[in-house]
Amino acid sequence: MPRAGIVTLAGRPNAGKSTLLNRLVGEQLSITSPKPQSTRDRVVGILSRDLPEPTQLIFFDTPGLFEPNDELQHTMRTAARTALADADVILYVADATKGVPPPLHEAAALATPPRSPVITVLNKIDRLPPATLATLRGEARAGESYAISALTGEGVDALIDVLAARLPESPFLYAADDVSTQPVRFFVAEFIREAALEQLNEELPYSVAVQVDEFRETGTPAYIRAIVYVEHESQKAILVGKGGTRIREIGRAARVRIERLIERPVYLDLWAKVLPNWRRDAAALRRLGYGIEKGR
Ligand code: GDP
Ligand code: MG
Repeated sequence: MPRAGIVTLAGRPNAGKSTLLNRLVGEQLSITSPKPQSTRDRVVGILSRDLPEPTQLIFFDTPGLFEPNDELQHTMRTAARTALADADVILYVADATKGVPPPLHEAAALATPPRSPVITVLNKIDRLPPATLATLRGEARAGESYAISALTGEGVDALIDVLAARLPESPFLYAADDVSTQPVRFFVAEFIREAALEQLNEELPYSVAVQVDEFRETGTPAYIRAIVYVEHESQKAILVGKGGTRIREIGRAARVRIERLIERPVYLDLWAKVLPNWRRDAAALRRLGYGIEKGR
């Protein structure tokens, strides 16, 4: 009998969840960034393999589980808890350079430990001197704790085996060659947001949201119109740049990534708009796709 189930990633911002997901699934699915909490939506990646037995791992991300402090974070946290409850196994990712982590439910301020089994990974071991790593391995709570590097891939294959063994016997839930169930539009919005975060440096990272308004794949190039939302006029001025140079550069960087994804030329029509206080406005959040939905 094959195995299939849900693996939910959890961990502090910057622990390396997105990097690990990309490594596990082998595709650039979830955006990675040196800035905390750049991934606002739960991203699904799927890993299917035949050996040693047919197994399908379906990955969920849980942005916002840590530190809720405004409406956006609250919405994200609710979605994250749903993902935890739905998990067959929880993959708790911690930054090994910060020492042995507290248990997940303490770190995430959950009232009780999650019901699903938690596997803790100590990530970024490539950054530890050998002696420190040896000590850390010793200190790590006995049982379900694994030292890995999402960046180099060290320990990741062994981790996949551990996760696979925890999944229930079940037929595959998705086609074996699917890497993700997210629509292309979602990735288009993510690529634009990623390009904007890169270009804007530290100036307004969390005030940016992207909505894909129109996506016509029939012509060549494909036509995509998207809006980058910010909260204030002053932010819009920064986003657009002198004579529109900055938003053009953001559009160019995003277009290259989108073209690689859909494998055809793209005309990206990018607009900047002010949507005051969108981060605190539940209706605006829903419109921008940050709604609370069950994953299945
Ligand atoms: P997330 O917020 O948990 O999704 O973390 P990200 O995957 O976005 O990673 C945050 C930062 O840590 C990025 O700059 C990554 O390149 C870096 N990072 C992630 N995993 C590793 C790792 O195994 N080793 C090293 N050296 N850096 C890592
Ligand atoms: Mg992330």
